[in-house]
Amino acid sequence: MDAPVSFLDQLFSQGILHDSGVDGLYARSGMFEDVISRFEEFALGFGKDEITEAMVFPPGMPLSDFETSGYMKNFPQLAGTVHAFCGNDHDHMGLLQCVAAGEDWTDKQKATDVALTPAACYPLYPILSKRGPLNADGAYVALQSYCFRHEPSKDPARMQMFRQREYVRVGSADQAMAFRETWKQRGQEMMQILELPHEVEVANDPFFGRAGKMMGASQREQELKFELVVPVNSTSRPTACMSFNYHMDNFGKAWNIRQADGSAAHTACVGFGLERIALALFRHHGFDVEAWPSGVRSALWG
Ligand code: AMP
Ligand code: ZN
Repeated sequence: MDAPVSFLDQLFSQGILHDSGVDGLYARSGMFEDVISRFEEFALGFGKDEITEAMVFPPGMPLSDFETSGYMKNFPQLAGTVHAFCGNDHDHMGLLQCVAAGEDWTDKQKATDVALTPAACYPLYPILSKRGPLNADGAYVALQSYCFRHEPSKDPARMQMFRQREYVRVGSADQAMAFRETWKQRGQEMMQILELPHEVEVANDPFFGRAGKMMGASQREQELKFELVVPVNSTSRPTACMSFNYHMDNFGKAWNIRQADGSAAHTACVGFGLERIALALFRHHGFDVEAWPSGVRSALWG
């Protein structure tokens, strides 16, 4: 009996994604991108009166801010840093000889001051910090960034480079918690309109190593992270398409973001995995967008 064609292979054969030869690194078709930009517009319709500003980040962030985030402590297995050739003519000759001999040339690369952005909200915090204390309303920012996580996989919903759209709330504990509750509701409302089966559940981040297991358990116990999951690549293990995070005052302290009264700011963010949401739509409504249910068509195409 033939093995069933994987969702990834179907996406390739339908021309929705294009294989690069590296798992988790795909070219997107115009159709796929159109679905993403329509979803982004749809998402911006929710909460647009609350947003104080919008930012789009490049896929790299300052290495020093990446260090401040604590990412290497918590998720070293997922991190990516940018290295470059920084040598002279002589070093260049050595490099070319290495390449010609089929040897490893990459160990001659030197770290730059750029890390690949692992989560869309990280580059925001140092920007807010530089502005000085927040006013009483705090900040409510809409973001988008390409993110990198080193987790190669044949699951098309687990990419190495993908985009997150986020809303981030920075202010008091009450403001951050209220924001997260609102978005948990809105996220479900959005999925209902898009006719995608979903559930919201307590979750934890994939903290590294033995100590990480305990951090994950404590994160769950304190209900700091929720995920909205949708069956995408598998029905038994649905995929997190949105996450709703409360960081307490951890980032406020790490980056020195202060509330009007001088205390460390609390932060919360809601992240939409743009590729995952597009994949969920293709999975549930088929590869022909014109045949998608009329409610979904009108939500996205107007
Ligand atoms: P997280 O910061 O892990 O909560 O991620 C926020 C959102 O980004 C998740 O809910 C996913 O929708 C999306 N996401 C996380 N990791 C990946 C990945 N490897 N590939 C595609 N989307 C991802
Ligand atoms: Zn975030």
